[in-house]
Amino acid sequence: MTSWPIIIDGVEVGAASGGVYERRHPATGELVGVFPDGGAEDARRAVQAARRAFDDGRWRDTTGAERAGVLHRLADRLRDRGDAYRTWESRQVGIPAGQIGWLASYCADVVDFFAGAARTHAGRSLWTSPSTLGFTVPEPVGVVVAITPWNFPLVLTIWKVAAALAAGCTLVVKPASQTPITVIELARDLLDCGLPPGVCNVVTGSGAVVGEALVTDPDVDKVAFTGSTATGARVMAAAARSITRVSLELGGKSPLIVLPDASPTVAVDAALECFVNAGQQCNVPSRLILVGDGHDVLDALVGRVGRLRVGADDDADVGPLVDEGHHGRVVGLLREAIDEGARVLVGGPKPAPFVAPTVLDGVDEDRRIVREEVFGPVLVVQRAKDLDHAIELANAGDYGLAAGIATGDLDAALVAARRLRAGTVWINTWNRTYPELPTGGFGASGLGRELGLEGLDAYLEPKTVQVEPARRAS
Ligand code: NAD
Repeated sequence: MTSWPIIIDGVEVGAASGGVYERRHPATGELVGVFPDGGAEDARRAVQAARRAFDDGRWRDTTGAERAGVLHRLADRLRDRGDAYRTWESRQVGIPAGQIGWLASYCADVVDFFAGAARTHAGRSLWTSPSTLGFTVPEPVGVVVAITPWNFPLVLTIWKVAAALAAGCTLVVKPASQTPITVIELARDLLDCGLPPGVCNVVTGSGAVVGEALVTDPDVDKVAFTGSTATGARVMAAAARSITRVSLELGGKSPLIVLPDASPTVAVDAALECFVNAGQQCNVPSRLILVGDGHDVLDALVGRVGRLRVGADDDADVGPLVDEGHHGRVVGLLREAIDEGARVLVGGPKPAPFVAPTVLDGVDEDRRIVREEVFGPVLVVQRAKDLDHAIELANAGDYGLAAGIATGDLDAALVAARRLRAGTVWINTWNRTYPELPTGGFGASGLGRELGLEGLDAYLEPKTVQVEPARRAS
């Protein structure tokens, strides 16, 4: 199969304009898929379908148990079709298939979590005076537009879709133009699992056209966005015109602090997370802050990074970057850092679409390579004289997505965890996400949380009801 559709109201269609576009594998050039080049008209039709599906109550008025039923069936289906999802994801993103063996089981687990949550969300009740009972009822926020990036398309879409459906919302999903396949397959599977038509619609196309049209549509109640901070700011400004709710999962420049008493193995294992998906992951530890000389850790890290295998095959450790444009940006930042005096301890630029996993030392704190998200396999070493200094360096800059600390001193780690300005702090580990725990950012890394019960709340509005029972008959 090489062609995929737009899905509106449960029907598979082409773009209103009839236009299509292609996605090719970033390393092999092989054709991965052909997709409708959606436009403003397709976006409008999809929003209208989601609006009707919300307003007529076909999903909102189901019981939590009914919503859970559809979601549990979806989880089973994801597990059954795990190999297909993994192959599609690997080919469209370029990530070696061996790195995403967990994909279907993890996504199914998230869906099962929200299926359970669909049956539990409840409000509060209290007597506000001896004669007045007040209670809150969580209601679905309404029509949700979910806009997702290309780096982990299925995971990042499922975080939104599973929570929004559990809450009783309807959706229009706009996947990144490079990577729509697994999102379209997800919508197909939802229909097969009994989701009513119109509840989850998918429109493919560019962010500038389809994304913009969706975000400014007055019939949309909420935009759930994951992507770069620059686009997130644009989305927030556009949504402000009609006070559309927004949640934003944005970029990061996350620090890993290594104290002198850290186990080198623990520290190096955490630092190596910088190179997963060729560094194209929002919460990679892209800054390694060494307290003390850190020789052991750095030597071990450079040795292991040097042994990582770059390639496009299923077993490669570091795959290609998503496209030539992105490769050019990453290599540009890397060359600029080297020209400014950064020492390359291992790695460096390679011809497109690859960048060797790279560790840079000797970079001034105010350089772009230290401040900006590279979204490539590049780790920068920073030096701190003590923990206070390390925390100061860690908190410098605009982002606040994740932070980590490797140490044998749990007291120091907990003090640091309190002081680090980051949505997630990992102690002696990195990059574990569980459906039960929320994820999100401080500062320029975003607004709101996904996953956990907080991730369900993001799709609910509390309604307050007050009643004076004794006045019934007066
Ligand atoms: P991007 O911002 O370029 O695009 C994200 C999505 O927004 C895509 O679907 C795109 O088509 C759409 N879009 C683009 N312009 C738009 C507009 N004007 N209006 C509406 N939608 C528009 O990001 P990307 O390059 O696809 O992804 C990489 C970025 O995503 C990185 O910055 C990364 O840190 C971030 N990210 C964050 C998280 C998180 O959970 N915090 C997770 C993954 C990726």
